[in-house]
Amino acid sequence: MQTTLTDSAKEAADILNSGGVVAFPTETVYGLGAGICHTEAIRQLFHAKGRPGDNPLIVHIYSPEQLTDVAEEINQSARLLIEHFFPGPLTLVLKKNQRVPYSVTAGLETVGVRCPANPLAQEFLSHCSSPVAAPSANLSGLPSATSWEAVYEDLHGKINALLRGKPSTIGIESTIVDCSGSVPVLLRAGAITLEQLEAVLPEIIVNVHTDKQEIPKSPGLKYPHYAPKASIRLLQANDEITIRPSSAYIGLSAPPEGVSLFRICPTLQEYGRHLFSFFRHCDSQGIKMIYCELPENIGIGRAIRDRLIRASGKR
Ligand code: AMP
Ligand code: MG
Repeated sequence: MQTTLTDSAKEAADILNSGGVVAFPTETVYGLGAGICHTEAIRQLFHAKGRPGDNPLIVHIYSPEQLTDVAEEINQSARLLIEHFFPGPLTLVLKKNQRVPYSVTAGLETVGVRCPANPLAQEFLSHCSSPVAAPSANLSGLPSATSWEAVYEDLHGKINALLRGKPSTIGIESTIVDCSGSVPVLLRAGAITLEQLEAVLPEIIVNVHTDKQEIPKSPGLKYPHYAPKASIRLLQANDEITIRPSSAYIGLSAPPEGVSLFRICPTLQEYGRHLFSFFRHCDSQGIKMIYCELPENIGIGRAIRDRLIRASGKR
């Protein structure tokens, strides 16, 4: 398949509207989209990524008004989160309506919905004739793609088009809050932090995922994620380590002596922004081991910790 590279949101949307699978930039990571009504495109999307069929897709809209196109009910906690954080890096899980096919929700009665703030994403979505189902635009299991070049590397020849935008400013996937029950539940940490959510919804609880859960609250969380080819070793303050050959480091503090490649991030925001692109860069340089400083569980540190722990295969 020929993948059309374009800088035009309109051209990319036209390709999606005619049943194509189209990658597009957002502020979190690049997404791989198909119209929710295009059954065949949805099937191709799962196939292109190698994504398991029981891992639901997040539906993307350009305006909160479109929520009624996909959600059966918007309760008070959802309303508050929409008011404070839409558009932005927050996905809400809501009861779905009959317009959302089960192929999008992987058989669930709920749907994940997000309204990205990235202006090119908004322009693209506004030209799409229906809401757009879109997981992250990377091969399943690999680090998410935060630049169009990373999407190209994973998916060229497998998708119809790639809308080229700037690198993602956040670099980490959206925060997911399940508002479909009586108590809101944080399912996945992201750039909208637990502290920000608690300020709006003091009753919010954090989902503790265990392998014993018969029906996982967020099915995607049970799969291996975000892993580069290199091994990941997590570092806590004052860890004594013997540096292996061909190793790299990313973190907030100075690197251990002897690593051949490193990135020091002055803030947690920069750590999040560069994490996945650093993983991909390390793989392109033949790095065998990446040492990653584990930040504290505060603010966006919670999301970075979650991705690092998953990338290291420890969850
Ligand atoms: P990705 O788009 O690749 O970041 O993956 C989407 C994530 O959203 C996965 O972890 C899914 O499990 C989660 N997700 C999407 N829809 C739902 C839903 N209806 N209920 C719970 N989690 C969802
Ligand atoms: Mg993903």
